[in-house]
Amino acid sequence: MLAPHLGLTSSEKHRYRGRFAPSPTGPLHFGSLVAAVASYLDAKQRNGVWLVRMEDLDTPRCVPGAAERILHTLDAFGLHSDEPVIYQSLRTAAYQKAFEQLRTAGYVYPCGCTRREIADSALHGIDGPVYPGTCRNGITGGREARAWRVRTGHPPSPIEFDDALQGHISQRLESEIGDFVIRRADGLFAYQLAVVVDDAAQRISHVVRGADLLGSTPRQIYLQRLLGLATPAYLHLPVVLNAQGEKLSKQTLAQAVEANAATLFDVLLFLRQQPPAGLRHGTIEMLLAWAANNWHPEKLSNCRQFSVST
Ligand code: GLU
Repeated sequence: MLAPHLGLTSSEKHRYRGRFAPSPTGPLHFGSLVAAVASYLDAKQRNGVWLVRMEDLDTPRCVPGAAERILHTLDAFGLHSDEPVIYQSLRTAAYQKAFEQLRTAGYVYPCGCTRREIADSALHGIDGPVYPGTCRNGITGGREARAWRVRTGHPPSPIEFDDALQGHISQRLESEIGDFVIRRADGLFAYQLAVVVDDAAQRISHVVRGADLLGSTPRQIYLQRLLGLATPAYLHLPVVLNAQGEKLSKQTLAQAVEANAATLFDVLLFLRQQPPAGLRHGTIEMLLAWAANNWHPEKLSNCRQFSVST
């Protein structure tokens, strides 16, 4: 029988729903494949649903054709989204609605500061300059609104959560991040707002992603609270570094992965899953099936980064 709320049975309501949310700024590289595979295995091991969401909101950074290439590569690895892929570029109305909700409640304000001014006046935090609050009580000097920021510190206590791999995390947004941008000077909604709106809209129960986003999670939890949304469970994977100790990314010229069993085998080794040696020469299907049955994320506990020589 269907429960009255949302037409969901209670087992569906509590069902694991995970996701992989690539930004199509280049081809799928080893680092993003690690996040794709780990999020998939974590979902499948718990009979969950696994979704792909294309984070193509930052249009100036998107590369034409990259989204299709990423989806094609995921398919070649047997990583198929259980529901249609959603595209952030088509979801502006949902972000606008959340933005209006925050604005009506008085949680956001326009900011007239330039990047330069902030860099010159601010303390440096874990994720760039900590915004000093210059426009909190109104833009001064007849300047124009550029970005929109959310007021941190409501209530003025640190944001805390327990990450499945990284342990207890506590961050005081006011002093470590400052009031942060949710609508950029170019009019685009910021990642922090879009990800929160989409994780809620897709009823994501578990977020598995790279530890490079660990410092963003308290901002996301804060927005969830202001918007009255549920907070998923978080698991932040070690970040893949190249031989120079840099995070694999488009900027560090990370190569596109080759879709074969050997690559998947290397991903499982990176994830400390010890696949049987014979499977290196098996098929992708065999490896994925072995990995879903033998997924032990705790083998990665407390690791924030590892190097691979790609
Ligand atoms: N789109 C982000 C990235 O590719 C990931 C966002 C997330 O998993 O929350 O880095």
